[in-house]
Amino acid sequence: MPESPSAAGTAVRPGVDGGAIVDSHCHAWERWPYPPPVPDEDSRGTVESYLNPNAHCPVCGKPVYFYRSPFDGRVFFDDVGWPWPKHGCTDNGRQPRRLMRDSPEARAPRLVPQWRLEGWRPLLSARAYASADGQRLTGDFGDRFFEVRVGRAEKIDINGPVLMRVVRPYLFEITFLHSTPRGAQERRTSAFNPKIASVGEDVITQAALGDPAASYQVGAFILWKLDDPERARPYLEIAGDAGLFDALIDLAVLGLLSA
Ligand SMILES: [Zn+2]
Repeated sequence: MPESPSAAGTAVRPGVDGGAIVDSHCHAWERWPYPPPVPDEDSRGTVESYLNPNAHCPVCGKPVYFYRSPFDGRVFFDDVGWPWPKHGCTDNGRQPRRLMRDSPEARAPRLVPQWRLEGWRPLLSARAYASADGQRLTGDFGDRFFEVRVGRAEKIDINGPVLMRVVRPYLFEITFLHSTPRGAQERRTSAFNPKIASVGEDVITQAALGDPAASYQVGAFILWKLDDPERARPYLEIAGDAGLFDALIDLAVLGLLSA
């Protein structure tokens, strides 16, 4: 079991329902402006980045998500998660208003966000570690602690929102922000359970895109090395649908075993 990371100060936590995300930094809003800049080694930014899910647009007053990047970039989002829709009527130099509990717009419920309907869920207390065999990303997903591997080149602003969804067993898609001094870029890429890492990052990436031969390699590994027929089946079916003979054989064997 991997070590559970400390949640202190880095978490973006989901509401129980309704799609709200609550930021662990919320207490700091009692003493705006935010505490002095701290260095951020991972992103080489100069300030502590965070997401405030309870901000309001200073122009129209609608609820928005306010994101501050490690480079002090300020972005208002209508919603967090892919495709990261930016709020149209703000200029990014302004500060968000604090949530006023009694204002009419604060009482208006936010709609169920599109990302939730599409299966994305926040990865909470996210942490990224460089390691010899790729980049590890850990966090709480649903009610479980998760560790996934992500492409080494991906720079994740872990104090910003990180969302993840299941693609197939052991295979995930993540979306997050990657900030530079020029702004916040939205990123979307695949991630996978370290148990299948020895299949190879390139093969897994191709399998995530639905490539039949790569799917067969992943499926065969899960079936024969991890001895996990149920989780192998979706991969073998992709390969079998494309007519890969080995996949059809394996599926026939699985059919016999479950008969
Ligand atoms: Zn607005």
